[in-house]
Amino acid sequence: MTTALEIKNLHVNIADQPILKGIDLLVKQGEIHAIMGPNGSGKSTLAYTLAGHPAYEPTAGQVIFDGDDLLELDADERSRAGLFLAFQYPVAVPGITVAKFLRQALNARSEDGISIPAFRRLLKEKMDMLGMDHKFAGRYLNDGFSGGEKKRAEILQMAALEPKFAIMDETDSGLDIDALRVVSEGANTLREELNMGVVVITHYQRILEYIKPDYVHVLLDGRIVESGGPELALKLEESGYDWVREKHTTAAQ
Ligand code: ADP
Ligand code: MG
Repeated sequence: MTTALEIKNLHVNIADQPILKGIDLLVKQGEIHAIMGPNGSGKSTLAYTLAGHPAYEPTAGQVIFDGDDLLELDADERSRAGLFLAFQYPVAVPGITVAKFLRQALNARSEDGISIPAFRRLLKEKMDMLGMDHKFAGRYLNDGFSGGEKKRAEILQMAALEPKFAIMDETDSGLDIDALRVVSEGANTLREELNMGVVVITHYQRILEYIKPDYVHVLLDGRIVESGGPELALKLEESGYDWVREKHTTAAQ
């Protein structure tokens, strides 16, 4: 069965300030959607709201995920239901290896946990799927990791959890080419292997040269003001966001 993430008229406040002002978006499993927009338009707010961050207060609208009202679920339940949020700034975890971190993440998801042999098999399978060196699992998480290695850990976590949907908030200004490749190849592989739906949030078009979106949406002042195919991202790359502002600012006030 395919599932969908359906956002209907979503309004979100931060500290009583309206930030998202009526978002509508339908993402089906297996589709890649890119959400682009200038700084401050509300991209991260959308990601954190979907993840269930307590500072982001939905004031109207709905998010239907797999038939459930996502906004009624706490953050852990969202993860168990099959939603994955790739965090913008992964923290360093001294003394915990990538493998141990992943095993903890999997154990948190089920009552019985996962046995060590089953975990080893899963880890090997996913690392092979992503073309990763098995030695990587023995490294200490984020301890001296390059940008690319941080992303490798994140993608491996995603692969192990087998989500139905991933929301990836990428400020790709900070990503080097190696990191961009890891994220993009990982997302593309998981879309194919798991029929995962992907929402990739980005300011720049560059990452979309590697992750090919089926749909591109432009967020401006808390609303999606343009939707189209990959050509929309190319137009933004060439012309920036000024034409979007000019076209929509009057309507948005
Ligand atoms: P983007 O990711 O598109 O750059 P954000 O979602 O981070 O945009 O921010 C959208 C708006 O919300 C901005 O005007 C920002 O100043 C405001 N905002 C974000 N986080 C907070 C916060 N913790 N408290 C108050 N305002 C915030
Ligand atoms: Mg942001």
